[in-house]
Amino acid sequence: MNILSRLKSLLFRKIGATSNPKYAAPALECSSLILLCGPSYGDQHYKGSFLLDAVALKEWAIAVGRGVTSAQSLHYAAGAFIPQWLEKTSYQQDSYVTLLDKYTRGVLMSYVLDFYQKGLIRVYCHECHEHHDSIVINVNEEEHHGPLTEWTDEWLCCNGHVLHKEDQEIRWIYS
Ligand SMILES: [Zn+2]
Repeated sequence: MNILSRLKSLLFRKIGATSNPKYAAPALECSSLILLCGPSYGDQHYKGSFLLDAVALKEWAIAVGRGVTSAQSLHYAAGAFIPQWLEKTSYQQDSYVTLLDKYTRGVLMSYVLDFYQKGLIRVYCHECHEHHDSIVINVNEEEHHGPLTEWTDEWLCCNGHVLHKEDQEIRWIYS
């Protein structure tokens, strides 16, 4: 096979793989703790490790998870699979912390504040090496620039270390 035809076959394989994507459900059983976000995933905006209580999440997923939708079908497939995946989770499965695939994480990350407010999350601070059930949530004052509203989310541990910091913006569209 010459270089050109090898390149063509590679390109076509790539196109074929993305034109009909299928969600590969996790084969690993979920343990009692799930790492939702943090440095282990290379998250730039999350300096703390946000751990989800998988047993409590199971209740949430059964009630809400089936209704989770997304414009992207892979995220939708991941969202639809979450209740089934969590079904066998128990507090006895605590020998490891479960990491999420990017689609499942994509679905669950949009609820991170909701999970915290429901008491499903504890955060490990890598600065003070402590777990925190309660964190300080600061939303810096909004700034308005024409159709753009900007602010900064800043979440701290009780010792003042940054667990999450992210600039946010909303562009208002006037018709
Ligand atoms: Zn700390």
